[in-house]
Amino acid sequence: MKVSRTFAVGVLAAAATVGIVAQTKLQPQDEDYAKLVKEWTTKPEFSSPLVDHLPKVAGIPTTKDVLGYYVGMPKKLTHTADLAKYYNALAAASKRVKVFQLGKTDEGRECLVIAVSDEDTIHDLDTYKGYLAKLADPRGLSADQAKEIIGKAKPIYMFTGGLHSAETGPPEMLMELAYRLAADESPLYDQIRKNVIVMMSAALEPDGRDRYVDWYNHHMLSQESENDRVPGPPYWGKYIFHDNNRDINYSQVTMRNWLKFYLQWHPPIMHDLHESQPLLYTFSGQTPQNPTLDPILYAEMPWFSDFEMTKMIGYGMPGVWTHAFVDMWSPGYLGFMSSNHNGMLRMYETMGNGGANTMPRTIGGGAGGPGGPDGPGGAPEAPAAAGGAAGAGRGGRGGGMTARDWYRPLPPPRTLTWSMRNNTNYMETGVLSALELTSKFPQTVLENFYMKSRNSVKSGETEAPFGFVLPVQPDMTRVAFIVNILRLQGIEVGRARAEVKLKEGTFPAGSIVVKRNQPYGRLAKILLEKQVYPDPALQTYDDTGWTMGLMSHADVKEIADKAVLDVPVQPVDVMDVNGVVKGTGAITAILHNGSNYIATLRYRLKDVKFEAIEAAVKVGDVQLPAGSLLVQSSPRVKAEIEKLGLQAVTMAKAPDVAKHAVEIPRLAVFSTWGSTQDVGWVRYALDHFEVPYDLIYKERIKQGGLRGAYDVIVIPSQGRGGAKGLIFDIESRGKAIDYQKTPSFPSLGSYGESADITGGMGLQGVAEFDKFVNEGGLLLTLGASSFFPAEMGITRTVDAARTTAAFYAPGPIVEAEILKPTHPIFYGYDKTTVPVRWAGGPLLRATGTEGRAWTLMRFPGNDSSVLSGLMRGVAETRGRPAIMDVPVGQGHVVMYATNPAYRWQNLGEFNMLANAILNFNDFPAPKAPAKPVE
Ligand SMILES: [Zn+2]
Repeated sequence: MKVSRTFAVGVLAAAATVGIVAQTKLQPQDEDYAKLVKEWTTKPEFSSPLVDHLPKVAGIPTTKDVLGYYVGMPKKLTHTADLAKYYNALAAASKRVKVFQLGKTDEGRECLVIAVSDEDTIHDLDTYKGYLAKLADPRGLSADQAKEIIGKAKPIYMFTGGLHSAETGPPEMLMELAYRLAADESPLYDQIRKNVIVMMSAALEPDGRDRYVDWYNHHMLSQESENDRVPGPPYWGKYIFHDNNRDINYSQVTMRNWLKFYLQWHPPIMHDLHESQPLLYTFSGQTPQNPTLDPILYAEMPWFSDFEMTKMIGYGMPGVWTHAFVDMWSPGYLGFMSSNHNGMLRMYETMGNGGANTMPRTIGGGAGGPGGPDGPGGAPEAPAAAGGAAGAGRGGRGGGMTARDWYRPLPPPRTLTWSMRNNTNYMETGVLSALELTSKFPQTVLENFYMKSRNSVKSGETEAPFGFVLPVQPDMTRVAFIVNILRLQGIEVGRARAEVKLKEGTFPAGSIVVKRNQPYGRLAKILLEKQVYPDPALQTYDDTGWTMGLMSHADVKEIADKAVLDVPVQPVDVMDVNGVVKGTGAITAILHNGSNYIATLRYRLKDVKFEAIEAAVKVGDVQLPAGSLLVQSSPRVKAEIEKLGLQAVTMAKAPDVAKHAVEIPRLAVFSTWGSTQDVGWVRYALDHFEVPYDLIYKERIKQGGLRGAYDVIVIPSQGRGGAKGLIFDIESRGKAIDYQKTPSFPSLGSYGESADITGGMGLQGVAEFDKFVNEGGLLLTLGASSFFPAEMGITRTVDAARTTAAFYAPGPIVEAEILKPTHPIFYGYDKTTVPVRWAGGPLLRATGTEGRAWTLMRFPGNDSSVLSGLMRGVAETRGRPAIMDVPVGQGHVVMYATNPAYRWQNLGEFNMLANAILNFNDFPAPKAPAKPVE
């Protein structure tokens, strides 16, 4: 059934016209929907004529028909199985809709994408996919051919929602959007369907979605105001929270599914829907901007955000703004997969309540600021947006969130009542406006996509660097780490067929060559170059440095010699490193060249006796670095070395050099319940390298007897404010908050269970850790957790101070100087100055004379020590210990001011953790106890 001439959305200018428009609608309307949505919307201006009605079409199911409720119903959130149920029902009923399965998550849920367009387009989807693939890689296309393709192609506009599980609205809204796109016959929708292929995720992080919905149903349904805030669940996905939006190397399997999909379909626009800011922030790409990305991108972004703001203000909706929140510096956000690949990234922050409860809300002072789910300090326990409106402005001009400004012409009221339906109304009106613009200018979007792709290839032919070379080097496993991430990103990589001679040097055959004259050549540059921050006065949302070579301690040469473009190479699809065992002697020596797989080898052969040599030694013509492993030769040993890409030589008998047995410790990783994310990154790294451990919480600590159970305990970076955060964790409000799996809440209780996640380990826990160390345990504290032993006096003669307010260093890469190169922690490091990521850990200082002996590595703290990204106030770090090995009683505390397992990025530092674990009982003898043994 097709009813023409309903109403032309394009001519609507003010909310006042809504009534007239509503009466002119010819398609039968769902009266029930209109009545309920009006009821759930807390003020008329929090709605628009785009979303206050819903056409009723026989045979096309609404969410009410399939799930029993309309989107935006108070206290109702949808699990992933029901999202899938709805989309599948819609696809079964409408030839305008198609559902794709992309692959599974860690916990076995499906990642789903839904496509909606007109019937013919959906039928010929592969043809349109082919057009976009050609525009994405325009090499060999003449200008005329490109024009011809642009004439036939249609842009894919992809919406993604539910990346951050506490931001619950987007996956709900998208169901209703899909229905409208399938069912509404008014001219706007005809135009969208004719000119645009709309795609959307069901939920970007399906595991977290289900866990959060269970948690909401269990603990949050009764919440009535911001004051009776309930902490969020201890986990979203298997390992991480918000960092799923910072996973620049796509470590997480779910994020990998989305990137693969992106590179198959090449959507010119990708729009990631978040929640925190009042009432709707539409990202316009403010400074600092990554200068390597195409200027066209920075013109397109405000083009869209200004249009949305114009439309929404026209509908009378307050609180829509476009500036002073997120910048364009880091390429690590998930949605950046689009702009990184010559598309256009878009992003919203819509105000949310952390669930579907209707609540009174007060809008705070400055723009942006930490505290909301998307703030950098975003605590999982904060309901969405609760703190997001507070805090200092981020590049804004102050005056607060409720003040009028050039980017916020119609500010929101200071106090209001907010509902899930308001959230839906705002977001849906915004995205329909974006689709309106796209459908009016599909050719411009496609031309821009083509030009950005073409310009990327061209810039690699005309602007240095023209490429990068990763020469053959002692440890090729970290080269493979980089190469395989570049490949995952769709970047072409080759292996030199013969020796390469360039101005920068001569590199052996087999060296890896990345040429810049390719569609994703700009992305290669962004990932491999040194980050030069444009203005130290500018704040940024996330890290300022990520240079892959520095992060992984792999040799990467930037090449300004244009001849690199002509180097003959063999294309690399996936890089595997085959290990080598030379000779057939009785003893095999595995060279410790810094490969992180040394630890994997030890664990894979846990029943085999290993020894580590404590100093470098020459055997024949091979130099064995300190820390190299000795083992009885066997086919099994050889096979594992080869599989893991390690280098080994054999000999008749073990070399005459000091050595110790490499035993496997009983290892635990301690996690608070309120800050599991940095723990998650350590877990991810240990899991990847097959290092088993117990994940323990306050419940186990308070039980005591730690030394009897463990040799080594790692406390990953937690408690950003210092020891108190680690010890007292989520404040107890007198009511137990459980995290347990039950038949009603099957997604809770994963990765640990607790009858009450609040209260922390308390002072009792501190005493247990103190006992553990004094009784001979090895405690490893990473990053912010290193405040803990200093502030609680476990290491009595070490102080932990904080940087001043003038200091500003969002994740740069800086130099660190190894002072005790013979300490087992530095096995595999062949240089005394190494790059490390600044982790925001404590400024350590030994108060006694022993300090010099205990400092294993320190920050030189000179201006030249900042290798990539921004550190303002570098002198504050001068001479401060980066790692200290502090003897305490019978044991040791190794305090890292660094974080050797940061977001699956700084694999060059990981051995500083792995070596400590593997050589746990072979540290140099304590020089002096920090306190008397009791
Ligand atoms: Zn978010």
